[in-house]
Amino acid sequence: MKHLLSVDDLDGADRIDEVMRLTDAFVEVSARTIPRVPALRGKTVAWLFYEDSTRTRLSFETAAKRLSADTMNFSVSTSSVKKGESLRDTALTVEAMGVDAIVVRHGSAGAPHRIAQWVGATVINAGDGWHEHPTQALLDTYTIRDKLGGLAGRHIAIIGDIKHSRVARSDVLAFTAMGAEVTLVAPPTLLPPSLEGWPVRVSHNLDAVLPTVDVAYLLRMQRERMTEALLPSLREYTACYGLTTRRVDLMDDKAIVMHPGPMNRGVEISAEVADLPRSVIVDQVRNGVAVRMAVLYLLLGAGTDLVAPDQEPDRS
Ligand code: ASP
Repeated sequence: MKHLLSVDDLDGADRIDEVMRLTDAFVEVSARTIPRVPALRGKTVAWLFYEDSTRTRLSFETAAKRLSADTMNFSVSTSSVKKGESLRDTALTVEAMGVDAIVVRHGSAGAPHRIAQWVGATVINAGDGWHEHPTQALLDTYTIRDKLGGLAGRHIAIIGDIKHSRVARSDVLAFTAMGAEVTLVAPPTLLPPSLEGWPVRVSHNLDAVLPTVDVAYLLRMQRERMTEALLPSLREYTACYGLTTRRVDLMDDKAIVMHPGPMNRGVEISAEVADLPRSVIVDQVRNGVAVRMAVLYLLLGAGTDLVAPDQEPDRS
């Protein structure tokens, strides 16, 4: 496997399981006093982020550093992109610096796929428009496996703005590949125009679904992608689909609450629910580093020792 552009590139449960096992090893590395291994020493990873990011960018950067890779930070807002340089010219320029992998986030679906056709380096999709966000799906899968022991036979509700969510698309692919059942819960205007081929059920009644779920996965209203009024008002959305403490009481005691971030407290999730012990949102972020270490290792680290401690040169 050269690139990670879609969850489908992992080709099903076996490969996803391999990423999960690698992640276990990198969780162990991350807990060490010096959380660093030499697995990617001599490799260079560059970021090409055309859209804002907090978690994804920080965790990819931390992951690359923990694997001893060199990192090259490219900020679109201070680059020649502002002078009109095309995506292709920018990607070729970054590659000419001698990079082994380019981590791409872009507002247009398919941008990382195009870059993968233009450059010889490995390309990792860190979110392309409404399309996919495969490493988010892997860290979500890892978090559910960690908290509930596995995904097979579990019922996961993905709730909210499915229409504009790359997280929802990648999560559906990963969760169902691992044997979970997925129900999408949203008003009709926040669902994709066609769900043909999606292996999911759909509901517009959150209160009816919550008692049956192992995971309530909430999505933000992605207003930056909405070109029309899809809701009468946010207040009305929150009344029907917001996860409040009253609604959490409908859930099984062991069921967990997830969110990819950034959260809009008081809209899709109440402030109290976000801070409940069953809300594993901070665990998702923490697992994101180890999962991204696993992905970088899988794509770039073949043949190197996985978790041997880093030996700093003796400078005494
Ligand atoms: N952080 C996620 C993404 O980049 C979810 C979101 O923005 O709501 O897609």
